[in-house]
Amino acid sequence: MVKSNFHSNDITDPKNFGDSYWQENLSQFTDCNTTPIKSVDVLIIGSGYTGLHAALITARADRTTQVIEANNPGSGCSTRNGGQISPSIKLSLTELSKKYGAEKALAIRKEGYTSLEWIEEFVKAEDIDCDFQRNGRFHAAHTPQHFKKLVQEAEQLSKEEKFPSVVITRAEQHNELGTNTYHGGVIFSRNGMLHPAKYHAGLLRVAQQAGVVITGNCPAENIKHNGDVFVVSTPKGEILAKKIIIATNGYTTDLVPWLKRRIIPVGSYMIATEPLPKSVMDRLFPKNRGVVDTCKIVYYYRPSPDRTRVLFGGRVSANETNPSISGPLLKRDMCRIFPELESYKFTHSWSGTVAFSFDKLMHIGQREGIHYAMGYCGSGIAMASYLGMRLGQQSLGERIGSTAFDNLKFQTIPFYTGQPWFLPAMVRWYRWRDQRQIKLATKNYNY
Ligand SMILES: Cc1cc2nc3c(=O)[nH]c(=O)nc-3n(C[C@H](O)[C@H](O)[C@H](O)COP(=O)(O)OP(=O)(O)OC[C@H]3O[C@@H](n4cnc5c(N)ncnc54)[C@H](O)[C@@H]3O)c2cc1C
Repeated sequence: MVKSNFHSNDITDPKNFGDSYWQENLSQFTDCNTTPIKSVDVLIIGSGYTGLHAALITARADRTTQVIEANNPGSGCSTRNGGQISPSIKLSLTELSKKYGAEKALAIRKEGYTSLEWIEEFVKAEDIDCDFQRNGRFHAAHTPQHFKKLVQEAEQLSKEEKFPSVVITRAEQHNELGTNTYHGGVIFSRNGMLHPAKYHAGLLRVAQQAGVVITGNCPAENIKHNGDVFVVSTPKGEILAKKIIIATNGYTTDLVPWLKRRIIPVGSYMIATEPLPKSVMDRLFPKNRGVVDTCKIVYYYRPSPDRTRVLFGGRVSANETNPSISGPLLKRDMCRIFPELESYKFTHSWSGTVAFSFDKLMHIGQREGIHYAMGYCGSGIAMASYLGMRLGQQSLGERIGSTAFDNLKFQTIPFYTGQPWFLPAMVRWYRWRDQRQIKLATKNYNY
């Protein structure tokens, strides 16, 4: 049994442990109990942004398209994330250039920017009501050294990649964020926010209208190759498919062991506060932007789209845990940044599993006839959507589907089978280092 750190005055309604704030007032997808089509052109496994975007492309190209989902459609990360949209590429131009050369490095970085522009065009073109806002993201420095580094990176990004930013000094910080914790930061103005579950629901609607059949509670259990077709076993019967797309990201199982060996599943955790007075929200988030900080074990947070609550996320434990334990720990960390939130409760605490790769890049490709895209390293709203779309095109054999990620080696390490035994030690070490840096910065720079 898991021991809970929960204090009864921390949370208003413990029944919300595990339930994402985003699902509130949204109706559940009701077609879960349908049976899948027996024989299809394209079978897609996983119903998040990657799977549904791929499905939309193949259905619009007149291929019979079936999506199957182990649980309720969208029950993975795509309805439970932080809703912050960014270019998603973790590695800098310099880091990528060392590995792939300058031209390829720039092409990879550009894919990040393309995904960021493309998702906005998609949401507008399909008329998806998902509180999309392109209002920039504040990257907050947790030490003065990190501030200097952020400023250097921002200058380099603007010079070499034309990605706009605005430097905010510590003296100006309260115009951005109601805290004294940070040492300034940088606003990346092209980043934005959306409501992830409304975005997913809109995408489901668009996919269904295009003819995609989506079946929930239907995990793929086995894949066999039989001549020209794949035979996929599910509890709802076998499905014959000419093409298969795997879109399971952090929930990748032994279905394709080759993929599982290349994915590091990592839990990410969030809480939503109870509704807060307008004056508090206006003080804490005067510019209504999403925020991430420079801690290695990063915190990310934002106001809810209606500006009544703080939605606060991060990884609070070295080991995977459950929302009854992560909730109070996240609240403690949130109150370090915003002490005035101490007296407010949180109403929801939830988590999801993201997928890291060993080279910190996302991967798209095909192996033994099975197409896949995954490994968004914790920020995949724009990139999973964009690569899902490209994946659909690649499965149709369209040249337009090619990306800068094609043919990148999808690495693993010896003896790794998908259980990240090294993660708790890594998280513990980085967390200790982050906390030490915060402590030193607070002591040495008591302005
Ligand atoms: C708490 C949290 C906060 C996040 N915040 C952000 C953020 O602010 N910005 C950002 O860009 N990204 C964020 N992310 C990451 C982002 O949500 C993901 O990168 C993105 O949703 C991945 O989409 P996907 O479709 O590839 O995978 P998912 O949405 O996870 O979908 C994979 C699906 O595959 C299904 N599946 C697995 N195996 C099978 C099987 N055998 N048969 C059938 N179905 C199967 C799973 O049930 C799951 O529903 C966050 C994630 C979490 C958990």
